[in-house]
Amino acid sequence: MGNAFNLGKLFGIQFRLHYTWFIIFILITVSLSWQIFPSSYPDWPLALYWVMGIVTSLLFFASILAHELAHSLVGRANDIPIKSITLFIFGGVAQMTREARSAGAELKMAAAGPACSLAIAGLFYLVWLFTQNTIVPVAAMAFQLTFINAALAAFNLIPGFPLDGGRVFRSILWRVTGNYRRSTRIATRVGEGVGYLFILGGILIIFLQLGLGWFSGLWLAVIGWFLKNAASASYRQVQWRDALRGLTASQVMTSNYPVVPSSITVNQLVLGYVFANGRGCFLVADEGRVMGILTLHSIKSVSQPNWGVVQVKEIMTPVDKLKIAHSDQDALSILEQMDESNINQMPVVSEGRVIGLVARDNLIRLLRTRSELGM
Ligand SMILES: [Zn+2]
Repeated sequence: MGNAFNLGKLFGIQFRLHYTWFIIFILITVSLSWQIFPSSYPDWPLALYWVMGIVTSLLFFASILAHELAHSLVGRANDIPIKSITLFIFGGVAQMTREARSAGAELKMAAAGPACSLAIAGLFYLVWLFTQNTIVPVAAMAFQLTFINAALAAFNLIPGFPLDGGRVFRSILWRVTGNYRRSTRIATRVGEGVGYLFILGGILIIFLQLGLGWFSGLWLAVIGWFLKNAASASYRQVQWRDALRGLTASQVMTSNYPVVPSSITVNQLVLGYVFANGRGCFLVADEGRVMGILTLHSIKSVSQPNWGVVQVKEIMTPVDKLKIAHSDQDALSILEQMDESNINQMPVVSEGRVIGLVARDNLIRLLRTRSELGM
């Protein structure tokens, strides 16, 4: 998930902001300050429209943050670790390092977000109630935020995976059928269906001129397209996980990797090993002792003029920072461990000796090959 930047940590969870967020931020601010507030309150000074527009947008942002935080904290309380949350054009996506282990945990975590949004809507409704005759601009803002948060809860409750409603739907299917994988397949297929319905609805609005304006139609179709893609990606992920289950580290590792000494320079490495065999991953070892591993990625972190002076040991991932896989470890748990620790390779150890290397690219290539063979 690129094109996002770090906002900082809250309760130990990394929050990231996707650039599409600025689009929605500007759209909401402009439509409030330019259209909605002036048409309802024609006697405000111009600056007030913009101040209230920006404050409302910021509070909307805080509302989404609270929604995502509710998911994360309930998730964490139910043993589902959350690594980071990326705030998107319409809501957020939590990056979990693994899925819920029980239908009940998933149900609680999925429902927490919409429940939080509804609670916030209620809170702003109260603010509106108490300020409508006294502080009118605050009341106007609270009214918009009541509506937006209620709409956020309603939208997220649509039963298309990976929306919250889709997760609730899956957890119910899971509880009823006892089959996690089949439930996920059904929920993601329904999610794709919902996405297509949105796209179709958007197109109908545009071409049949249903009086809602072409922009609403376009907006609906774009959201549908996002939903459809997210559902398809979730479906593929389930298939990948299925394909990895039942394979062990020793079956997915490569034992055919070059071993390089730690004292050679990057230049020597590139000329002598990278060009020679085209490989992107190396085991660094001195006299049979493993010192670390090195990838093309670490080579790229050194600017070319320094290749002649920087040594391999300066840029390798040292052995004490490596996560080690055991030869009979499940391939799926290796991938989860890689996700959890943000690493792309794990050496495989058997009886204290390195016998191979599992690389993320290898796993993905393996999955592609398996799916091409229909396995
Ligand atoms: Zn949510």
